[in-house]
Amino acid sequence: MAELKRLSESRDLTRIERIAAHSHIRGLGLDSSLEARDASEGMVGQLPARRAAGLILQLIRQGKIAGRAVLLAGQPGTGKTALAMGIAKSLGAETPFASVAASELFSLDLSKTEALTQAFRRAIGVRIKEEAEIIEGEVVEISIDRPGASAVPSGAGAAAAAKTGRLTLKTTDMETVYELGGKMIEALGKEKVQSGDVIALDKASGKVTKLGRSIGRSRDYDAVGAHTKFVKCPEGELQKRKEVVHCVTLHEIDVINSRTQGFLALFTGDTGEIRAEVREQIDTKVAEWREEGKAEIVPGVLFIDEVHMLDIECFSFLNRALENDMAPILVIATNRGITTIRGTNYRSPHGIPSDFLDRLLIITTQPYTEAEIRKILDIRCDEEDVEMSADAKVLLTKIGTETSLRYAIHLITSAALASQKRKGKVVEMEDISRVYQLFLDVKRSTQYLMEYQSQYMF
Ligand code: ATP
Repeated sequence: MAELKRLSESRDLTRIERIAAHSHIRGLGLDSSLEARDASEGMVGQLPARRAAGLILQLIRQGKIAGRAVLLAGQPGTGKTALAMGIAKSLGAETPFASVAASELFSLDLSKTEALTQAFRRAIGVRIKEEAEIIEGEVVEISIDRPGASAVPSGAGAAAAAKTGRLTLKTTDMETVYELGGKMIEALGKEKVQSGDVIALDKASGKVTKLGRSIGRSRDYDAVGAHTKFVKCPEGELQKRKEVVHCVTLHEIDVINSRTQGFLALFTGDTGEIRAEVREQIDTKVAEWREEGKAEIVPGVLFIDEVHMLDIECFSFLNRALENDMAPILVIATNRGITTIRGTNYRSPHGIPSDFLDRLLIITTQPYTEAEIRKILDIRCDEEDVEMSADAKVLLTKIGTETSLRYAIHLITSAALASQKRKGKVVEMEDISRVYQLFLDVKRSTQYLMEYQSQYMF
């Protein structure tokens, strides 16, 4: 459990990295009748698309989206990723949002179905409720490696528990440990508790009560739930236990339970293939928790960009995956019109096979007006804590309209650095023009290469 808690914190950091460009998006900016406000929750313009996304929210909330997916079609930089993230944010802070570009699914390390499975499981949250916290009373944590083995105090386990703040660790003295250990073995002998159970011991009566299952895992032990905790408390304190809720994704549970990968793989992202048995075991466990009311599934949003890069096999995977009762909300995006379906000789709208097109609710996004670009740049300056003079903003907006919104957004950070370097207080026009010259937009870079290609190709 300590690992799960730690990973939900670490995941937030990784997530912040990945989605930094959209950190200003906090929802879809709709009012109570699902009408889009001009600028709200970090969202600007794109009103018809946001209104449509609002209706999709309603379908999701009424449980009517099953088996369907959303397609966002529009030019690059028109806010497709931002809209998908707005949907996730509107569904609640705990809603997982996973984003992947279709081209990332094709690699030598992972099969494409494994990569898709991982993406799906990254977008499925599990809210785990644990009834193990004692507000008062002494607590000690003991790990065992198998039922019946002698109990040993686990320094690492105790430290981890203390660090998570879930347990107040007042004693680890050997006497208490052995006393509890004895009770534990006694209880285990009667097969009342198993490895992974969280147990409260009423010291006065000597009664052992099972509080629930721990899902934390000590890497040396079983795949799921091998941490056994003893919770000691004075008589009458049992009802004071609090419910602790952790929210993690199925993918994270997969990774920490995959013996070959382990917890650290979540930091490196190098998760490799996860064996089917590990996933089956976890699905069974999660189903058990759900039945016992200890866990709930939180369907998130899976965003697949450049969907025209998926091949026919990926589409058949998606067709099947959407039928699963734990399926996340699938939002796909493309900027292509009629194109070949990868892996076939057929052409179709957006490169998507007709059976999958049938499942789609399609929303289009439109290019932004100058005023909208200005507003988005204002929001990004606030988000990045960058002060910019009015002139500089006019220039940056002009650059945004003539090149792309994303390019202009990128210039904010580098212009702020240029301003810092000359010890300026605010970003001025000179900083913008400096970085505009240093970093080319696509149009200028292609032009440059066209002009000089004779020197590059021989
Ligand atoms: P691509 O097709 O290239 O993936 P996209 O359509 O997904 O592009 P985004 O990445 O969502 O475009 O948008 C580019 C940047 O502009 C992001 O930082 C995004 O958060 C921001 N942005 C786009 N649309 C809006 C909007 N309507 N309101 C606020 N910010 C927006």
